[in-house]
Amino acid sequence: MNKRSVFTAVFLGLICLISILMIQYIWINKTIHAQKTEIMIQMKEDSLNISRFTQKVHEALSAVLNEISYTTKDSSDRYGAIRQIAPNMYYVEYQGDIEPLYLENILKREFYSTHITNDFQYALYNCFHDSVKYSNLIRFNVDSLYETTNIVIKHPLISFSSNSHYFAVFFPGMITHRVDDVEDIGSPWVFLFLVSILIITYLTYSVYVIIRQKKLSDIKTDFINNMTHELKTPIATIGLSSNTLLNDDFSHDSDRLRRYASIIYRENKRLESQVERVLNIAKMNKNSTPLKKSLFDVHEFILEAKETFDFNLEELGGELNIELGADKYCVFVDPVHIKNVIYNLLDNAVKYRKDDYLKITIRTRNDKRHLIIDICDNGVGIKKENIGLIFDKFYRVPTGNIHDVKGFGLGLYYVKTIVEQHGGMIQVKSIPDKGTTFSVFLPLRVKDLE
Ligand code: ADP
Repeated sequence: MNKRSVFTAVFLGLICLISILMIQYIWINKTIHAQKTEIMIQMKEDSLNISRFTQKVHEALSAVLNEISYTTKDSSDRYGAIRQIAPNMYYVEYQGDIEPLYLENILKREFYSTHITNDFQYALYNCFHDSVKYSNLIRFNVDSLYETTNIVIKHPLISFSSNSHYFAVFFPGMITHRVDDVEDIGSPWVFLFLVSILIITYLTYSVYVIIRQKKLSDIKTDFINNMTHELKTPIATIGLSSNTLLNDDFSHDSDRLRRYASIIYRENKRLESQVERVLNIAKMNKNSTPLKKSLFDVHEFILEAKETFDFNLEELGGELNIELGADKYCVFVDPVHIKNVIYNLLDNAVKYRKDDYLKITIRTRNDKRHLIIDICDNGVGIKKENIGLIFDKFYRVPTGNIHDVKGFGLGLYYVKTIVEQHGGMIQVKSIPDKGTTFSVFLPLRVKDLE
């Protein structure tokens, strides 16, 4: 997958996300608008129904009051005797004394004759005893019309406090739409917000996975290219030499025969060691390299390494300087692996040199707990954007398609793994075109710290 495909995938994903959110936004807006209109219509219908209902209840209660006045022979003015406390609650003031069942019967009769078929509750208040004398819920039922239930629903507005006799009528089933309902429609926005967060998280994660996969795929391609390049040369040399051996007559030239045989042997060894090295490091597990530790004199080894490198550098045009400043230079490590670590870093300093005169410096020093080995060079350096990746398995700083420096991107991975397995760490500082310094921190033993 190239950069363009990744960009296209991300771009399309963003377009889809924006489209989904816009559609959601439009739908929710439309739904809210429709709901508001519906509620407004409903409220208007409700208020119309309520005013009709109120009128009918007034009619029925007037008739009830008339009948009570007739029975109790009360001739006083009944103006203002019926009061509406709430859309579904009425108080009726009367004179005299009436029986609850008598009241219930005339309420049923008058409600039925005015076509009020709602459930209702009535309560009779006795001002002499300052208490509710009787209270009952009457349910409307098509078969048996009004049916007494002996259930009482408490209503917060029922409170009698007067010197007169009252009865209250309350219609519990009457529900009206409130304007507050319209405000409640805010929740779809919360839902849209949560869905957006979910989609954005999903998209971000997908992009992260795509980019990581692309990086892995690039590393794999690079590795295969390097491998092909590294293996092809010895294979071609072996091929050519064996072809010559097969086709030419060597019966009188044993020297030539030996030369070709030794080329094949040498290249075969090289091939073998390369395959071995790659396979060993590639399968190396971060935690399980067996270490055979012993006390190792780092200064002694650096002096040895200098001798070897001086010889090579003379030919290449360069020098290796040493500044052995550490007081405590013996560490308890696996000497084979630590030697490999230092050789790997020195090899890299030579491999990634510039055309100028090569200068390598090995410096040793101590901090409170470590012996620190700095390996500095004046080579090509490493750019900031690559520096975080150089310790990754198979990673090589991209150089386009030029394979002028051989390698599999395993050296620094090996170095870091080994140093960390010894309880140490590695740091790198580099300035492109100026040079690089690798610092290996190896822990000192507790008893060596005193
Ligand atoms: P290899 O050398 O086989 O490519 P390494 O793991 O040793 O693999 O190094 C990884 C990358 O780090 C190299 O491709 C190289 O670009 C960079 N590198 C390592 N050491 C140096 C150095 N001393 N100077 C400049 N670049 C370096």
